[in-house]
Amino acid sequence: MQYYGNVFRPPSEARSLIIQATVGCSHNKCTFCYMYREDQFRIRKLEDIKKDLVEMSSYSDYFKRIFLADGDALVLKTEDLIEILKTIKELYPNVERVSSYATAQDINRKSLEELKALRENGLEMLYIGFETGDPDLLVKINKNITYEEYVTAMDKAKKAGFKTSVTIIAGLGGVEGMKKNAIGTAKLVSETKPDFLGYLTMRIYKNTPLYEDYQAGRFNMPDAAQILEEMKIFLENVDSEGTVFRSNHASNYLLLAGTLNEDREDLIEAIDKTLKKKSFRPDVLRGF
Ligand code: SF4
Repeated sequence: MQYYGNVFRPPSEARSLIIQATVGCSHNKCTFCYMYREDQFRIRKLEDIKKDLVEMSSYSDYFKRIFLADGDALVLKTEDLIEILKTIKELYPNVERVSSYATAQDINRKSLEELKALRENGLEMLYIGFETGDPDLLVKINKNITYEEYVTAMDKAKKAGFKTSVTIIAGLGGVEGMKKNAIGTAKLVSETKPDFLGYLTMRIYKNTPLYEDYQAGRFNMPDAAQILEEMKIFLENVDSEGTVFRSNHASNYLLLAGTLNEDREDLIEAIDKTLKKKSFRPDVLRGF
């Protein structure tokens, strides 16, 4: 079995068997994103995907989860995805969960019936990168999706029975956009109420258009205290009962875990304590 280009997976898929359904991301133009920039996007042939599944099935006892990569496996035709899911069911009897990244465009392109069919055939969790709920910032980062399209996609995914896990990014709007990013994102999360929410911290990567803006002084990167202030504004404004909240990504200055809304005050208190002591996670532990 061979992997092509850069392969990524969410932290909770660390022990999953990763099967590439696509190589790269079909959009690949978000200004901050470095992930698949070097990869020429393509949908892999169904026969090759199935070949990987057959090849790895001799180790099927070791895998409880399968993650369909890369950037948006849901871009595949529904009938092809169903065939992949059926093959998984046949060859991997111990697998308890199959998941994939999905863009809101992928979800909105499919009918509710198609999404339900995918769910019934074993696709259980969709990871969706919101990044922000600030409508102006969505345009600025070239996300190619609107606030309203996110709301529609989340509504459809939930109606089809999927678990949803979304990511948002503190600092994405720079120093000037901190408050708007926090409040717009809190509004989107409150309206869509995902099952899981991962809060990441902005990092600037050299091979991105955002890096050029940063170098030219057009993007002011918030410091650690400003990032935590932004996260605090988000938490003060979000209303998403039952959402599991995590800021356990390598990029974060403070690791937080709790459930909204019941742990909101504790999470805010942890931020306040860290701000007071200035005890931010050092860069060496943040992957720098
Ligand atoms: S953030 Fe997601 S949609 Fe945007 S380029 Fe990166 S992988 Fe593709």
